[in-house]
Amino acid sequence: MAEHNDGPERLSTDELVNLIDEIAAGRGSTLVPEREPADDPYWPSADYSPKPSLEEIRAQIRREQEAVDSRLRSGQDVFFITASGIRRVHKPDCDHVRHTVDRSESWDLVLQNYDTLRPADLGMVYRMPHVLTRPEVEALNSYVTCQACVPALDHQRKKFSFPVQSMLALSFGQHHVGRAVFTEDGEELGALVSHQRIVAAEGIRSITRTTEQTLEGDGTEKYVVAPKDAV
Ligand SMILES: [Zn+2]
Repeated sequence: MAEHNDGPERLSTDELVNLIDEIAAGRGSTLVPEREPADDPYWPSADYSPKPSLEEIRAQIRREQEAVDSRLRSGQDVFFITASGIRRVHKPDCDHVRHTVDRSESWDLVLQNYDTLRPADLGMVYRMPHVLTRPEVEALNSYVTCQACVPALDHQRKKFSFPVQSMLALSFGQHHVGRAVFTEDGEELGALVSHQRIVAAEGIRSITRTTEQTLEGDGTEKYVVAPKDAV
């Protein structure tokens, strides 16, 4: 499997619990009998729903694949953005998105290791990609196009233009994590992973980590953070 960013493309703990619930919600079909929590050393029944069966996981993969395929079949041009924290736009057949477009591949590690599956292993699943039509892509406040598949869009690098104020790196808080961060010039820097403030003899060191890079400063550096609900 190709290497990909291990950050936000993988699921968070909350999303894991939701995913397990979602798989369980796919039960109820008479084909899949309701199961009691089994005594499984890998799957603590006290904390989670009963371990999904392989059939239930395959059903979840089919639901996800159908959601992606229905967009592909829509007859409109569609473009893909993975959940990596940066809005890089790809054509559907680009090698850089195949691991999220092909849902079996996204779930590969879970399928391969089903017998010893632990709840946290579902975090190895790649998130669903964003599938956008051309007007939806062009309506984004910022995006960059993939240099490998080179989708024909209006911009190669559309600069960020939300009417919002920049803020000091030192003001980053937990609620900014996961949101896209930009320079004051509109250059996208990836999604915020963490911000650390270290008081050293020579002054304050401010370390901002995004999914794309680590940025250091003295705390007076400024960034622009995308609104919470931006893609
Ligand atoms: Zn691409």
